[in-house]
Amino acid sequence: MPDDPKSPQIGAGEATPIAAFDNSYARLPERFHVRLNPTPVTAPRLVKLNAALAESLGLDLDRLPDEELAQIFSGNRVPAGAEPLAMAYSGHQFGGFSPQLGDGRAILLGEVVDRSGARRDIQLKGSGPTPFSRRGDGRAALGPVLREYIVSEAFAALGLPTTRALAAVTTGEDVYRETTLPGAVLTRVASSHIRVGTFQFFAARRDVEALKILADYAMARHYPDYRDAERPALAFLQAVAERQAALVAGWMGVGFIHGVMNTDNVSIAGETIDFGPCAFMDSYNPAAVFSSIDEMGRYAFANQPRIAQWNLARLAETLLPLIDADQNKALEPAQAIIQAFPGLFESRYVETLRRKLGLFTPGDDDAVLASDLLDLMHAQGADFTNAFRALCDAASPGLGEIAFATKFGDPASVQPWLARWRARLADQSQTTDDSAALMRSANPAFIPRNHRVEQAIAAAVTRQDFSVFEDLHAVLSRPYEDQPGSEAYAAPPLPAERVLQTFCGT
Ligand code: AMP
Ligand code: MG
Repeated sequence: MPDDPKSPQIGAGEATPIAAFDNSYARLPERFHVRLNPTPVTAPRLVKLNAALAESLGLDLDRLPDEELAQIFSGNRVPAGAEPLAMAYSGHQFGGFSPQLGDGRAILLGEVVDRSGARRDIQLKGSGPTPFSRRGDGRAALGPVLREYIVSEAFAALGLPTTRALAAVTTGEDVYRETTLPGAVLTRVASSHIRVGTFQFFAARRDVEALKILADYAMARHYPDYRDAERPALAFLQAVAERQAALVAGWMGVGFIHGVMNTDNVSIAGETIDFGPCAFMDSYNPAAVFSSIDEMGRYAFANQPRIAQWNLARLAETLLPLIDADQNKALEPAQAIIQAFPGLFESRYVETLRRKLGLFTPGDDDAVLASDLLDLMHAQGADFTNAFRALCDAASPGLGEIAFATKFGDPASVQPWLARWRARLADQSQTTDDSAALMRSANPAFIPRNHRVEQAIAAAVTRQDFSVFEDLHAVLSRPYEDQPGSEAYAAPPLPAERVLQTFCGT
């Protein structure tokens, strides 16, 4: 395995100090990772830098010219203090277990402690082959890099837990997929890159010692309050389950379909990770699937909670030896957590829907009220995002109500539902203005609609025109604000613009 961290670098020169790296994953035993440098590229060019994120990470990039930033974020120049490595992990992909996946095209540069005191990974994606690449080239194409940039940053602006995009760089090299495409590298920032699959890697090798080290590490990093629990591994499972429930509820609240909820794409920290064939629904359809490789609809919109539970069960299996030396004694409490997940999810999802309906406190019939609206949307092909956004102005009779009703094929048919909803609002001590304000913070006007993302990618890939990407990114940075002049970004696709299928980033 190429494990010499000091292998020669094109344009290496003096290592640039950009951050106070404080690496902890590199301190874990050797079987957790393989140390190696990114593979240099011929002509890196900076496409985008996330200056606000860099600032929050305490990075010192202001003085650096774009050429230098391109060298750093392509992997050509390894910054001082970085200890590049590829992480080992396994994973269930579409239900089938792969004992050895790992970072096949990503390299963790290291960690920094950000201005809020949180430890954050800085990782290059598309940075060249590693011992985990199998038959892959270790590279990424520009399209998927831009998609991840747009969607992960839109997620952050929507207030959903997510990895972030720090930089995008083109490499000046081609990558070969179905066609020849421009290559690119994304710099990803995450609370960590520990996945359910990281636990599976060691469980598959019956390496209980490593599992214990990993669990202690993950707990210290993400759930420090649980370390003193009577059975820490059980508390850890519960904590991960809670974050997954909140995460998937958040996704479904904005009509998001992850598309590849494989266990190697499930972050222990509860962040959305891996924006591969992901998509946002336009018209509401619980069976919506976009990914070209998801032929069975395993990861369909409404199936996401069940899959989250399935993935948690795989995590639970790896933790059994840590929960109790007697497997039988470990099984029952672990199973109880998994079985409680649907209830946990449901309560988070209803909370999400309640905010979308402008409801401040729980009521017995809220879930039914919400699902009846979703049923109407489904039956009449209403646009999910726009119908909820219009509802913000429909609390009182008037133009807002008409605008809401016209989102439905048969506007008159929504009147009985509106009457029920208004009666529920009237039962609250808050005013309808209060409700409207709550709803405006829960129902975005702008989401990264698939056709807009594809237009931004097409312009960049075919014409080297990044202005479409920039404009879309700017609109999506304020998703809850009406932005006069940007109404077109809220429009559903025309029939010819509809994206029917999405493809993996590989
Ligand atoms: P993903 O579909 O991105 O979740 O990746 C699944 C696995 O395939 C991970 O182990 C990746 O590192 C690996 N992989 C994906 N694309 C490539 C590539 N172009 N070269 C090498 N490995 C890859
Ligand atoms: Mg992945």
